[in-house]
Amino acid sequence: MKKIIDIPLTSVASVELFLNKFRYSIAQVSAQAQKKRRDCKAYVVTGGMWNSNGSACPLLKADGVWISDQPWSAYGYAWDSGPDIMLTLDRDARGNFWSTTCLIGPNGPVEKPSYDKAGQGGKRGRAGIGTKPGYLRLYASQDGTADARTPEALRDDMAADGCTSFVMGDGGGSAQCWFDGQSIQGDGRKCHNYIIVYVKKETADTQDKEDKPMSKPIVCLDPGHGPGNVNGSPDGSYKEHEFTWDLYTRLRPLLEAQGITVVGTREQESDYPSLSARASVSNRAGADLFVSLHSNAAGSSARGFVAFTSAPPETAARNKLAAAIINRVHAAGVVLWGSGLAHDLLTVLTATTAPAVLLEYGFHTNAQDLALLKDAAYRDKLAQATCAGICDYLGLKVKEPDQESGQPNEPDSWAREAWSKASAAGVFDGTRPRDTLTRQEAAVVLDRLGLLPEKGA
Ligand SMILES: [Zn+2]
Repeated sequence: MKKIIDIPLTSVASVELFLNKFRYSIAQVSAQAQKKRRDCKAYVVTGGMWNSNGSACPLLKADGVWISDQPWSAYGYAWDSGPDIMLTLDRDARGNFWSTTCLIGPNGPVEKPSYDKAGQGGKRGRAGIGTKPGYLRLYASQDGTADARTPEALRDDMAADGCTSFVMGDGGGSAQCWFDGQSIQGDGRKCHNYIIVYVKKETADTQDKEDKPMSKPIVCLDPGHGPGNVNGSPDGSYKEHEFTWDLYTRLRPLLEAQGITVVGTREQESDYPSLSARASVSNRAGADLFVSLHSNAAGSSARGFVAFTSAPPETAARNKLAAAIINRVHAAGVVLWGSGLAHDLLTVLTATTAPAVLLEYGFHTNAQDLALLKDAAYRDKLAQATCAGICDYLGLKVKEPDQESGQPNEPDSWAREAWSKASAAGVFDGTRPRDTLTRQEAAVVLDRLGLLPEKGA
């Protein structure tokens, strides 16, 4: 687990070196920062190390006052207002100075970063600050996970990501961050100092995508309901929870094929988490968006697709996401219910931090919609349109599926039984159910069925 955020320097309002005299948790520090500047979003990351007696050990100057003034010199960040932050050896260049271990300096990656092997070496969670042209980077990774790094490996990661300077702060269990309410290792250890970056609110929302150009987008998918839920067609031939799970299994690989990280709210079909638990999965994952999968119920005449979000306006991210999906679904030939967009303060829409939509793919109480909802090819179409809409919203160019791997690997419902018999008998290998049969494949099939006379017989 790691979190990286690249903040455009033009949207940085100020940078504060917060000295944690009263031993607040990082969540409390963040909450206070948020109160202090309501016009800004506050991003908090662990600062430098401290000694066992509670004093700071690296070079540290806050608001013109030296907190820790060692006799040595080291590259660190100096700043007054915030956007003027610069890497320098000159500790008096600005009113604030912060330095622990410089990994990328003015001459590029530091060949032998200087740190205490026992205290700072090995693979650990890490916190740090870096710059890229035009951006300030905040970084934190969690101890004991695959994202733990040696200082050298962290240096190489950051250099590969285009950082032109980087200073590593404290690590291990002290590596913490608080970005948009998301932390990486809870809120336990109370560090000596934190770096708080205040980002102007009017740009904070629109810059979100630019904030993480290097990390894969994360989509949280929520297959609605679970086993035992009674929602379904009046004739009992269709259960909503079976549909949502099936659609999830079709949509997830399509998104992953586009380079998107998918987090599911249900790990297996037998899971049936509460609504707030589903929102928590999304929030903990730091998802970029949340999509809940459902089918609808009403009288027998209502039909069509509708996306729910919590509320207007249409400029809100959630409604842009909904519009992107509605456009793709409509373009795929799916009937819309009304305009295709509706609002409701549903728990999964209001308790999620990420822009959230709940998709009702049709009315299982309507005969026409029911027949479609049961059809495998139609489900594939819904999954593909949803994937394309999500990609549009994320600004990803949809990669068209190739002939070999991109086809749905399931036959239509009318062919399903015959297909499974043919696969089980080894007549077909179970792949490419929609492919046309070549002459040589036909010959092999006939041979496997024993329908061809032996040569020379
Ligand atoms: Zn539902």
